[in-house]
Amino acid sequence: MDSQVTIVGGGPAGLHLSRKLKEKGIDSTVYESSPDLGRPVQCSGVFSNNFAELLEMPKKIILNQVKGAKLYSPSKKIVEISKGEKQADIVDRGEYDRHLAKGLDVREGEHVNSLDFDSEYIVGADGAHSTVARLAGFPPLEKHVIGVQVEIDNDSYDKDFVELHLGQSVAPGFFAWIIPTDKNLRVGLGTTEKPKEYLDRFIEERFGKIEQRECLAGFIPMRVRKPMWKGNIALVGDAAGQVKATTGGGIYMGMKSAEILADAIEAKDLNIYEKRFTKEIYPDLKKAVAINKVLSSMTDEELNKFWDTLGKESMVKLMQEYGDMDKPTLLLKGFLKNPGLITQVPFIRGLLK
Ligand SMILES: Cc1cc2nc3c(=O)[nH]c(=O)nc-3n(C[C@H](O)[C@H](O)[C@H](O)COP(=O)(O)OP(=O)(O)OC[C@H]3O[C@@H](n4cnc5c(N)ncnc54)[C@H](O)[C@@H]3O)c2cc1C
Repeated sequence: MDSQVTIVGGGPAGLHLSRKLKEKGIDSTVYESSPDLGRPVQCSGVFSNNFAELLEMPKKIILNQVKGAKLYSPSKKIVEISKGEKQADIVDRGEYDRHLAKGLDVREGEHVNSLDFDSEYIVGADGAHSTVARLAGFPPLEKHVIGVQVEIDNDSYDKDFVELHLGQSVAPGFFAWIIPTDKNLRVGLGTTEKPKEYLDRFIEERFGKIEQRECLAGFIPMRVRKPMWKGNIALVGDAAGQVKATTGGGIYMGMKSAEILADAIEAKDLNIYEKRFTKEIYPDLKKAVAINKVLSSMTDEELNKFWDTLGKESMVKLMQEYGDMDKPTLLLKGFLKNPGLITQVPFIRGLLK
């Protein structure tokens, strides 16, 4: 008999699941293709304040802390959103994964090619290209963008802020980002096509000709894969498409989903997983999809006009009070509490339904 639970994939979702199972006295083995867990990194390492509820993070993993975001329209109008205090940590993602793996049964360098395990449950936590999903006959991921990122040096950048740049001319379907670490800038974007071409253009326009290092790229799922389980096999994290279509962030949602999956495994009823996921996590992912659909369908001209509204004091206050990068439903609730603002954003009524 193998472990009670076989987990394929040693990213944050799989490792957190293994941790939670261990707390419940359920043994699990994590199989990870990479011989060096946490590498290669495919992440910007932006961890919101909500991560504190998942597990304590050693200080050495945190490279920088940011107080807010500067949102750029296609014509480079800037709206600054900040509460004046830390909103997110910028972390060393490889170190974070290795921290998560401490004390667990992780088999590095073991790529899983079959589901031939003698376990009560098999979990696919093996990312967007999930082998488990394919072998078990789950439907393919419906939609994704490709994220690409490089590192550059720049001493004059304001390290208290991330920058997000929107526009069809910048990153069609998604956005471009600049994330300051302690030493350098992570500059990237997501698009449905030609991501590196768009990124090179973005970097040259923002910083001029500059040396790029550490190029990485990866799929960012934009829709939840349903069903998330069948028989004794479940998917979690990117494998299940548990990613916010607004930001491309999948770690928090994947780890929260892993906690629910651990409870369902303990209760020996995977139905609980999908039920609680649908109630507790899906509403935010669904609203994120709706917001992404609206923003990515707007022309640059429409976005530029929208920035005039976004920049109004009342709107900035609303975003500061209710904005939470993991929970778009909170912002929409903010609109419901400020009905006067609903009329200013024509598409908001559709999102409130
Ligand atoms: C450019 C970019 C930037 C991003 N930035 C952020 C960010 O700042 N914040 C954020 O929250 N999210 C970010 N994301 C998304 C985030 O990286 C993912 O949501 C997150 O890594 C998903 O975690 P996971 O554990 O589900 O899967 P993964 O982290 O993808 O882990 C899956 C693991 O499974 C292993 N594996 C795959 N197949 C097999 C197999 N057959 N056998 C054994 N092992 C296997 C892989 O090697 C991998 O280690 C970013 C994504 C990209 C592409």
